[in-house]
Amino acid sequence: MKYYSTNKTISGVSLKDAVVKGLAEDKGLFMPEQIKQLPPSFFDTIINMSFQEIALAVAEAFFGEDVENEALKNIVYDTLSFDVPLVHVKDNIYSLELFHGPTLAFKDVGARFMSRLLRYFIQKEGEKNVNVLVATSGDTGSAVANGFLGVEGIHVFVLYPKGLVSPIQECQFTTLGQNITALEIDGTFDDCQRLVKTAFADKELNSSLKLTSANSINVARFLPQAFYYFYAYAQLRAIHPKLTQEELEMVICVPSGNFGNITAGLFAKEMGLPVKRFIAANNRNDIFLQYLKTGQYQPRPSVPTIANAMDVGDPSNFARILDLYHGSHEKISSLISGVSYTDEEISDTIQKCYQETGYLLDPHGACGYRALSQTLTNNENGIFLETAHPAKFLDTVEKIIGEKIEIPVKLQEFMKGEKQIISLKNDFESFKNFLLSAALENKD
Ligand SMILES: *Cc1c(COP(=O)(O)O)cnc(C)c1O
Repeated sequence: MKYYSTNKTISGVSLKDAVVKGLAEDKGLFMPEQIKQLPPSFFDTIINMSFQEIALAVAEAFFGEDVENEALKNIVYDTLSFDVPLVHVKDNIYSLELFHGPTLAFKDVGARFMSRLLRYFIQKEGEKNVNVLVATSGDTGSAVANGFLGVEGIHVFVLYPKGLVSPIQECQFTTLGQNITALEIDGTFDDCQRLVKTAFADKELNSSLKLTSANSINVARFLPQAFYYFYAYAQLRAIHPKLTQEELEMVICVPSGNFGNITAGLFAKEMGLPVKRFIAANNRNDIFLQYLKTGQYQPRPSVPTIANAMDVGDPSNFARILDLYHGSHEKISSLISGVSYTDEEISDTIQKCYQETGYLLDPHGACGYRALSQTLTNNENGIFLETAHPAKFLDTVEKIIGEKIEIPVKLQEFMKGEKQIISLKNDFESFKNFLLSAALENKD
């Protein structure tokens, strides 16, 4: 399968090049030339398939031409070493718990897949010294760092906004050492993302270093996120065995920041997944909601919220959504609706849901749950993506419910390590000089 850029000046790019480059040279995002439909027989038997089997069928549709069967199967099975259960919360609302991976956030799926695919290409071509740059608002950094930890030939640089990620999130990528370097930037997530994007466009840097991005802009991180939408559907069918595909009326609500997760859901729909409609749930950073309302896409600086992984003022994957629907505002707003919640509304939702149902939401999932509880009709079945474990936002969540919560063992382990951090100014020249000198050291 070949990939083209959303900026349309580049096409015919191989999967390997799209994965290694991350972003196209014209600064567009890579898109597959084709989105294959899965056959009706797939949907007829999906209830009886395991998560891995479902994911492999989806992976083959995208990557089957470029990765040998056995290798792809290993990558998929190894990536999905944990479950993504669909849990009933209340009435017709279900939580798709994406936090059972090693860093307890949904980004484990894409990050683990990408690290394995990149390793496959690097080993195949005997490459060395590949530098992965990743900007994080909290969870990407840990998922990517953990996905790549100890992988030979790859060095990961995690850029994160100083003081704007939770202490637990910070531990998950600053305590690893080995081939992982954590860079604390004196700025916001958008600044980190800008530094990474500028690095890819910098000729001198790219002639001296092999750079790749592991942000959700990378196709190898972004496409695998489609896997669990199909698995959610399979589980919902199993819960309602008497309902037909149409009667299921599946509504999917995705807490969104950079819009990679929801875009993967839109791809799943294009592949034939029967989704009635999508909801993009935002915190106060509501650029997408404003686009739906006005037809104008107007990025603005992000504002900090308690759902910090969604503090994004210029969602990268918006370009993919536009491309997918040929820029049609009408089409986009017919498929996706939007909501935006304040910190007070998010807190209120966590507290009420916990009181009423005993289910503990994290601040991101809370946006999803709230949107469903406000807009679902009786016939519909709503699934929100619970994108991280609530304990990742310990102080916030404990304050809201007024109770101590248990910290999963996996998280406790991270908190024991010693942090190793390099602080940089929010300035491209400093970042560039740092990369050039760090890369020299790594080569030795
Ligand atoms: C990254 C993240 C999001 C936003 O996902 P996007 O794909 O960037 O829209 C939501 N919730 C959590 C917990 C995250 O880590």
